[in-house]
Amino acid sequence: MPFLKLFENKVKNTIKEFKLLNKKDNVVVACSGGKDSTTILYLLNKFDYNVQALFIDTGIPHSSEENRNNLQDFCERYGIKLNVVSLKEEYGGTLGELRARKANNLTNCALCGILKRHLLNEKARILGATKLVTGHNLNDEVENILLNIFGGNMQISLGLGPKSGVTNDKKFVPKVKPLYYCTNEETKNYSKLMNWNIVYCDCPFNYDAFRKIVRKIIKRLELEDSMIKENMIKNFLKILPELRKSNLNNYSIFYCSICGEPSRNNKCKKCEILN
Ligand SMILES: [Zn+2]
Repeated sequence: MPFLKLFENKVKNTIKEFKLLNKKDNVVVACSGGKDSTTILYLLNKFDYNVQALFIDTGIPHSSEENRNNLQDFCERYGIKLNVVSLKEEYGGTLGELRARKANNLTNCALCGILKRHLLNEKARILGATKLVTGHNLNDEVENILLNIFGGNMQISLGLGPKSGVTNDKKFVPKVKPLYYCTNEETKNYSKLMNWNIVYCDCPFNYDAFRKIVRKIIKRLELEDSMIKENMIKNFLKILPELRKSNLNNYSIFYCSICGEPSRNNKCKKCEILN
């Protein structure tokens, strides 16, 4: 079977295996303009899901604009509705400005992750989304599991897996990852074969050195066992339900006293940073 077809089947099977989406879902895809989110946006549209795109403009010089333009052209070409929100309008500054003013102790990626996570959930909910799709692929998941183990924070891993499953709350839009079994190389190949305009470089704000080391370790391990990522994920998925069950008590949900969004504490991480 040709690669394009194989790849598409892999995504279809992942959606089926984990019951990620159904045709009645109002699907919002978190889009960065990068290869992964563009690929899953294209495929869900092709598979006849009810999809729209949501782009967060972080105001990273050149990069945000280029990604946004690429995504805009893409959405026009395929007739997909694109929603754009910007950090500057929502939170009063671009990623760089907010970091300089408010969060010197956080890495760019950590700050970006916190702000985007909040904004994506809030905006997807306002758009009436029943599912929020992200472009996380197999490499991202394996890196995250290892980073959480090395960082001594297995709690964060409870939120991993193809479907967010720790909290059922009316203010949380369930997050799903249809590219869960697709490797970085595979989505790269797929998007290149489709000839889309995509920026393939790493985000210019990414100075996350530790993640890069973990990436190298995984590459090295793959020389010994080419299926190491798949095996890790399979084993992780075996223990995840038990992990979640035994930690349920630590997962009460509060509403942030400042913004009213769901949070693990009285004040959410975003407001802690911004106020
Ligand atoms: Zn808040």
